[in-house]
Amino acid sequence: MNEGFVKVKPGEQADVCIINTCTVTDIADRKSRQAIGKLHRLHPNAIIIVIGCYAQLKPEEIANLPGVNLVLGSHEKFNILEYLKGLDKNNPTSIHRTEIKHVKEFRHSSSREDRTRYFLKVQDGCDYFCTYCTIPFARGRSRNAPVSETLAMAQSIIREGAKEIVLTGVNIGDFGKSSGESFFDLLKAIDDINADVRFRISSIEPNLLSDEIITFAAQSKRIMPHFHIPLQSGSNEVLGLMKRKYNRELFAHRVEKIKSLMPDAFIGVDVIVGVNGETDEYFEDSVQFIDSLDISQLHVFTYSERANTKMLQIEYHNSPAEKKRRSDTLHLLSDKKTKAFYEQHMGKSYPVLWENRSHGENMIGFTSNYIRVEKPMNRTSINTIEEVKLGGWNVDRTALMAGR
Ligand code: SF4
Repeated sequence: MNEGFVKVKPGEQADVCIINTCTVTDIADRKSRQAIGKLHRLHPNAIIIVIGCYAQLKPEEIANLPGVNLVLGSHEKFNILEYLKGLDKNNPTSIHRTEIKHVKEFRHSSSREDRTRYFLKVQDGCDYFCTYCTIPFARGRSRNAPVSETLAMAQSIIREGAKEIVLTGVNIGDFGKSSGESFFDLLKAIDDINADVRFRISSIEPNLLSDEIITFAAQSKRIMPHFHIPLQSGSNEVLGLMKRKYNRELFAHRVEKIKSLMPDAFIGVDVIVGVNGETDEYFEDSVQFIDSLDISQLHVFTYSERANTKMLQIEYHNSPAEKKRRSDTLHLLSDKKTKAFYEQHMGKSYPVLWENRSHGENMIGFTSNYIRVEKPMNRTSINTIEEVKLGGWNVDRTALMAGR
């Protein structure tokens, strides 16, 4: 952090704690409250600042939690240092929050955490209104900076040493709407960067992951064969209830297109289980469809009701036990898909970027096609790319081992 702030080490007392919250589900809200409570207990004298989507949507609820001094909305969170000036722990809790419909400005951000991969936010907000989702209420309309500015941001983090950059956003396929450009324009621009760097596209809506983008990615040296596509349900009836902008036939076509051009590509897929209106029959239909797809992993989310969403008007509700059963079913299917994907790649060689993360005595890296790989820790390998032949599984079957 700048302006004289430094990150405390484990065990040290902090002067300021910042909690960046999420509100995508009830569980996310609860985790945010737990994190605030825990930090208040561990750092009783620290100024506690809460930002993020939960702070934007329910600022009073957060302001009433013990220890919270400052709640900042989605627009204000970019000026934390300004709000910190003159702030006293003993003052009453303050809230600064602009109504999201008035927020038009796009603010860049990038993060690295303690890993090696960089995350570059290229787009914010969403103009879709899926019936289960509150994100547009928390993040506002779709917006982005022009390609030229985004490229300059990417170049600046490459100068910092980035070897891999993940392009992120709320609805990244919508990039360009506010600058008269397109996500495809951005991909063409980053592909021309003259540096030893690789890019990943984070979650992108299937209707926006056009065949043009897939074809371009397939011949690009910079864009990795790794896709994350939200399906949400494999039942067309449920997709209709969710007001998603595609049907499952389009989704299947995207997966086939990727696999026909990039047979080794990793494809992660988001699915939500137990939404209102998802009957047993629809769920079974969805499972069969998902099983038929040549994908690598599922990210399974359990539906929880969010205030002010249209899905609340649907009368058919699923019990918590049924939601759990469906989640368990899809987790099992995901394990099957991931193991099959990993097994297909044993004995093949891929470039691995070694990260600053360890798993026991091993270090972790990811292949170009997002296979998690381990090898004995060697700190000189961190943030370097090495061609690695994939061997057997590690003990907990979460990764393949390098060079065996
Ligand atoms: S596209 Fe994503 S962020 Fe936008 S409303 Fe739908 S689920 Fe929410």
